Amino acid sequence: MKIFSGTRPSGELHIGNYLGAISNWMELQDKNDCIFSVVDYHAITTPYEKEKFHQRNLEMVAWLIACGIDPEKTRLFRQSQVPEHTELAWILSTVLPVSELFRMTQYKEKSTDQSKENISAGLLNYPILMAADILIYDADTIPVGEDQVQHVELARIIARKFNHRYGKIFTEPKTILTKTKRVMSLKDPTKKMSKTGADGIALGDSSVIITQKIMSAVTDTGEAGKISPAVKNLFGLVEAFGEPEKMAEFIQAIENKTIQYVELKRYLAEKIIEKLIPIQKKYQEIMAKPDKIEQTLTNNAQALRKEAQEKIEKVKKEMGF
Ligand code: ADP
Repeated sequence: MKIFSGTRPSGELHIGNYLGAISNWMELQDKNDCIFSVVDYHAITTPYEKEKFHQRNLEMVAWLIACGIDPEKTRLFRQSQVPEHTELAWILSTVLPVSELFRMTQYKEKSTDQSKENISAGLLNYPILMAADILIYDADTIPVGEDQVQHVELARIIARKFNHRYGKIFTEPKTILTKTKRVMSLKDPTKKMSKTGADGIALGDSSVIITQKIMSAVTDTGEAGKISPAVKNLFGLVEAFGEPEKMAEFIQAIENKTIQYVELKRYLAEKIIEKLIPIQKKYQEIMAKPDKIEQTLTNNAQALRKEAQEKIEKVKKEMGF
């Protein structure tokens, strides 16, 4: 399989990114051709701090390597170092009706966070660039969280429309999801945990902060007598971070009222901390050598550019340029 996926350097990676996407990247990297990107052009579609931007990119790469993404096995790179992605995005934008973009859930959600005059065309066009990221390498399998499924579907639509008009040039990609395909906010279980919200657990959070966040997570939303969405979310985390038998035990005990949520939360905080401490240590070691990260990114981007340029040449030839 040829795999492509990316993450925005718009804040610290959180356990939602880890469980929804990166855990799959790690599994796939051994047996597949994997291309993983820090998608910095995507990150500028919403407000960001330019003084910290370069550093954020390096930190994101360091976190990915610390989690277990092996830069020897995968092609880890920074999106803006392969400018052919944006060239292809322009071309693809000419085959997609704009109405398709307005129906994207992420656009609707992100644009309601901003006043109308501040919503950039980039935010609307984001899925076209994402389609270009995928289609330029003929990636067939895209490991993402559930929130990105709609965008991968749009990439399929774009590929199909393009192929219909100009001949079979692009591979139609498909999504693969992890078991924990969507981690919700600890404060509001109707929203997904995100990098920009303070409602999630960042991979770099200290043990004290993790404990505080988990202990103050909401539990009492939803219909009385039923397991609430907030508790379901916590159960999902127990399943992902705890011992395999623990979740069934907790469900039983809570239904029988023999334990309270506070005990589940204490267990969960401990398990998350156990998982994150070695990742945090590795992150510190990697960040001590920023030049090495920079070199890896540049080498990978140079190699990928060759592939991307060949594809663009082919596309333009078919289009009659
Ligand atoms: P964020 O929305 O946190 O900025 P990105 O857009 O950079 O994250 O997404 C990186 C990857 O993490 C994507 O594959 C996305 O689907 C996944 N992801 C993001 N948030 C979650 C979540 N709350 N639960 C599961 N997966 C998620």
